[in-house]
Amino acid sequence: APAPPPALHRFSDPGEVEALRGNLLAWYDRCKRDLPWRALAAAEPDADRRGYAVWVSEIMLQQTQVATVVDYYNRWMQKWPTLQALAQASLEEVNELWAGLGYYSRGKRLQEAARKVVSELAGHMPRTAEDLQKLLPGVGRYTAGAIASISYGQATGVVDGNVIRVLCRLRCIGADSSSPAVIDQFWDMANALVDRSRPGDFNQALMELGATVCVPKAPLCGECPVKQHCRARHRKLFGKPAPVPDVEDCGVGDCPLCPPATEPWDSSLGVTNFPRKAAKKQPRAMRTATCVLEQRGCRGAPKYLIVQRPSSGLLAGLWEFPSLPLPQDLQEEKEREVLADHLQAWMGQPVAAKGLQFIGEVIHIFSHIHQTYVVYSLHLDGDVTLDPASSPSRWVTEEEFHASAVSTAMKKVL
Ligand code: SF4
Repeated sequence: APAPPPALHRFSDPGEVEALRGNLLAWYDRCKRDLPWRALAAAEPDADRRGYAVWVSEIMLQQTQVATVVDYYNRWMQKWPTLQALAQASLEEVNELWAGLGYYSRGKRLQEAARKVVSELAGHMPRTAEDLQKLLPGVGRYTAGAIASISYGQATGVVDGNVIRVLCRLRCIGADSSSPAVIDQFWDMANALVDRSRPGDFNQALMELGATVCVPKAPLCGECPVKQHCRARHRKLFGKPAPVPDVEDCGVGDCPLCPPATEPWDSSLGVTNFPRKAAKKQPRAMRTATCVLEQRGCRGAPKYLIVQRPSSGLLAGLWEFPSLPLPQDLQEEKEREVLADHLQAWMGQPVAAKGLQFIGEVIHIFSHIHQTYVVYSLHLDGDVTLDPASSPSRWVTEEEFHASAVSTAMKKVL
């Protein structure tokens, strides 16, 4: 077994752990936010439905703010209140409801997993974190722990960004929190800390603390229910680490959880010395030419052509204006030509490059891609026969466009 972490970074006093759990849970009972998935999980007597309600919320909340998720969650649960209902939905319906929430593969995988539960597990959700992670596609360690603790009362911890920040501050952890060895330590700590009788509430309380009090930039330490257990705060107030028995084994350069010797404590940052900021990876720059093809529909209202993206990869299965990735540093004239060629091959009729009207550029940041859409428009007179061998496509009114499974980026383009 790996050596336990140095005392500064451990929760080694059982009395302190008990007090911390009690303070955190009492605060949660008083201050927790009213959220629809909490109300559903608390009121639902059926274990499978409860697990499903928590699962949907956890998938939606990955990388997305609570305030954005609430409305999507309510619409989703109204439309598909059970796993069985979701399993019968089409991917198109799932994408339509998910449109605007981002990271679209989450909705698709949720639906695939629901189908698996219905067809292979007789409609019953696995009941432990281990089985949830093993049996459900798209359910990782965090989501499995959240579902198992909140829905089924399993005493298992969870580690997400909020929990990492709180743990780093409670125990002065300044090592790179994205390194696998450090993440393992967080999981050990979360599993050791979780309250045995109210694990779901404890996990939600720890995350809630990170989301509302122990926030990244200006934490509200004065209002914090666990401030007396916080070693970062102790260090800020007293200028030195908390008095723990073998604290001298830390901070000399080889402690695996202390900040590196090259990044010493900065007193102007206080508790926000922790967690240490990881070097941000630069997103990849991409340019894509996109063409809004427009036709006059009945009563002169415009109709737009949208095509469906492939069923895997970025924005899988979503609809977009005909688009074409461009090599970097292409001259504008050349961009126009390659786009005209692309449209021509696909529509089976000549498209003159100079007929494409340049509209402007739309920038959209995906998690790892800095995407620039170079937007053109083209008005078409008469009928266009689309090549049936190419991607599925259809003409839509503006209203239909907004109701379709299109990405936020395409809405910006329109
Ligand atoms: Fe976070 Fe401050 Fe509470 Fe420590 S005292 S856990 S830094 S809010």
